[in-house]
Amino acid sequence: MKMLLSLGLLFAALSLGRCIPLQQAPNRSKLLLVSFDGFRWNYDQDVDTPNLDRMAADGVKAKYMTPPFITLTSPCHFTLLTGRYLENHGVIHNMWFDTKTGWRLPYYTTQGISSWWDNGSLPIWITAQRQASEFMECLHPQGLKTGSIHFPGTKAKYRGEEVYMKLVEPALFNYSNETNWRQSIDTVMEWFTVENLDFITLYFGEPDSAGHKFGPESTQRKNMIKQVDRTVGYLRQRIRESGLESNLNLIITSDHGMETVIKSNEIHIGTINNFTFKDLDFELLDYGPNGLMVPKEGKLEHVYSVLKNAHPKLHVYKKEEFPKRFHYANHSRITPLLLYSDPGYVIHGRYKVQFNKGEHGFDNEAMNMKTIFRAVGPAFKKGLVVEPFESVNVYALLCELLGITPEPHDGSLEVTKPMLLGPTDNDSNDSDDSNADTYRLQRPETGTSSTVLSCPGSPRAPGISTRTHGKMGKAVAHKDIQSQGCLKEPDRIPKTSLNY
Ligand SMILES: [Zn+2]
Repeated sequence: MKMLLSLGLLFAALSLGRCIPLQQAPNRSKLLLVSFDGFRWNYDQDVDTPNLDRMAADGVKAKYMTPPFITLTSPCHFTLLTGRYLENHGVIHNMWFDTKTGWRLPYYTTQGISSWWDNGSLPIWITAQRQASEFMECLHPQGLKTGSIHFPGTKAKYRGEEVYMKLVEPALFNYSNETNWRQSIDTVMEWFTVENLDFITLYFGEPDSAGHKFGPESTQRKNMIKQVDRTVGYLRQRIRESGLESNLNLIITSDHGMETVIKSNEIHIGTINNFTFKDLDFELLDYGPNGLMVPKEGKLEHVYSVLKNAHPKLHVYKKEEFPKRFHYANHSRITPLLLYSDPGYVIHGRYKVQFNKGEHGFDNEAMNMKTIFRAVGPAFKKGLVVEPFESVNVYALLCELLGITPEPHDGSLEVTKPMLLGPTDNDSNDSDDSNADTYRLQRPETGTSSTVLSCPGSPRAPGISTRTHGKMGKAVAHKDIQSQGCLKEPDRIPKTSLNY
């Protein structure tokens, strides 16, 4: 009977033409992308980080990673999710704004404005849900199953579609609570093992908050890195306990770095000679080192000339003259005048309302804006340190790991490919990385053995289900996914402008 059933299933699969028998299916791994907001590239160099060190020895570490410009949270995370520079994905600021009405919305509210996010570039969650490689269509007729916890962009809908399972930050949320962090990790493990998700993004609001409030060189920031490191240890422990170690690729990265704010010789637009806000229809200032302005009709040349050389640390450009290397200004949302300041200097507008000790948003070539990239798992070589690369390249790597076809993007898989084990790399310890500009880390003795267990993956009942997540917020599982054989679908406190 069992054999008949197996034959029947095999025949059914083959009769649909495009499905490969399951026993030929390659072993697809799951993928977890973790972001610790504002983790500067060298934050692990003045603090003991045994768990991050162990992860580097077990996997791959980039010397550092270069974020896109401007180095703000939502824009940089959307680059990770789309592989596009800001001028191409359109999420050009943490704040939604309308130059006609003058309205602007803070970071947290902007998370829920789908039109701000859904303006031409599809984040990888949606692409993964829409497609799967041919053999996977047998298992996931409508694509892969994705989830996201607090990751910027999670809340929005894209062409009417959204992440399958999500936890969205509540309006009042403590970004720094280690117990909350562990709950999030436990939820991720449940989603991988019980819900059988393929790809999850997980976001933590630290060490960004500590860096802003106390400064990147502070004891508080160093203590927060210890907390991050404990969390990495907990995450890897839970991966082992869940039987996922041999089946899960883990990437830990971030959006940008952090710079100490200079409090002398400050840039204060409101005090510049011959400048008046009456010459503007719209301005977005008081947001770290970045500014956007729409001068009144006929006033552009005047405002430009007044501001251009007003302060040695302030750079003022007309949109079309903005340096091309930033890949920032060529978008309809960018205003006719753009301002940015040198590392350490923030731009004050009408009044001085910025008091953070640490800030980001600066030139992405400034070393203190560089961030981290670490990866470990069955797809990655071990003990490998790779040369720096731009975060715009992460998207192609994610697509490769998930076996999906990328949307048009600005990166290249060639940049990260040397991290991956090739088909001839049977033993990751003997992997050949001679084609990469890399060197090996000394590997400490590993004290843990990997347990190979398959993910239970309970069949999901069709229909809408809603999950709760303690006090952290609400999880919404949606989409009524039903088996369709192999037919493919047609192809803390709200973060204000000052603390994000
Ligand atoms: Zn950030």
